[in-house]
Amino acid sequence: MSIQETKIYPINTGWLHGDLGTYIFWKGPAGKKKWQPVYCHYVDTGEHKILIDTGLCDAERASKYHHNCNKRDCLEVHIHLKEKLGVDPSDIDAIIFTHLHWDHVQNMKEFPNARYIAPKAEIEMANNPLPLYYRTYECGILGIKPAYSGCVIEAVEEECEILPGLTMFHTPGHSVGHMAVSVATSAGDIVICGDAIFEERNLEPNPSEFWRYWVPARFLNSYQGWKSVEEIDKRADYVLPCHDHDANIRSDVFPYDGMPIRKRRQMIPGYKFYFGDMPEGTVHKVAPAMKPEDVDAYIANLKCPEDMED
Ligand SMILES: [Zn+2]
Repeated sequence: MSIQETKIYPINTGWLHGDLGTYIFWKGPAGKKKWQPVYCHYVDTGEHKILIDTGLCDAERASKYHHNCNKRDCLEVHIHLKEKLGVDPSDIDAIIFTHLHWDHVQNMKEFPNARYIAPKAEIEMANNPLPLYYRTYECGILGIKPAYSGCVIEAVEEECEILPGLTMFHTPGHSVGHMAVSVATSAGDIVICGDAIFEERNLEPNPSEFWRYWVPARFLNSYQGWKSVEEIDKRADYVLPCHDHDANIRSDVFPYDGMPIRKRRQMIPGYKFYFGDMPEGTVHKVAPAMKPEDVDAYIANLKCPEDMED
């Protein structure tokens, strides 16, 4: 294995119709909906073949219990791997779950040789969810069989390099035990964000509120959620959120030549917040503060949720 060889392939497993104000942007335009893709990611390190999350089920089940779903010719993960990438599901060594929400775990039993790895707090929650989250974890009480029923899942409690070049780190807030996965590549650290952010835009400011980040609305703990957005900002040279079309569609495979490298932990005058420390060994990746004279143009160019297309 070498970092030079590591490649990430986004797999879109279908589309869900979600509300911008309820899910994607805190204080975003409630009532305005947007079709969002549901990505999972195949990582080939040369030594290991790994999935990070497994995405959606069929449209009927998704629409019946959750949100309006449209597959738009997207395939379920095991079929996509075989038909589009030429990877046999039996060759997958491990599946790492960022969290165990229903739209990240479907079809996991299609991979007969895979270890299942997930944050400990997610396994506990999935097996005994708070009633508010019965649907989110497809609790059996609703008459559904969760995708992970009967599976033995290895629990991860602390940040660790779970496989060579892949580090799971804590990003709770969206869910109780959420962990993002940082993948070391030749172009830098690509962070597969799960749902800690829904879109790249969540890492940019909300000008009307003077927030440094326009964080998502779907949190069970908004304090932790904000801190997790900061954590991603400190660690990521590129982000792959599971529900962001733009970030995942720029290439069939990541990294690629010309991939836009983001600036970590960039100070923007007028948008104060507390950063805390940078992770060990990454202090040199802090971007210098933006020049005050450049701020207005930068803010004016940010995508406004009101203008986003459905
Ligand atoms: Zn989720």
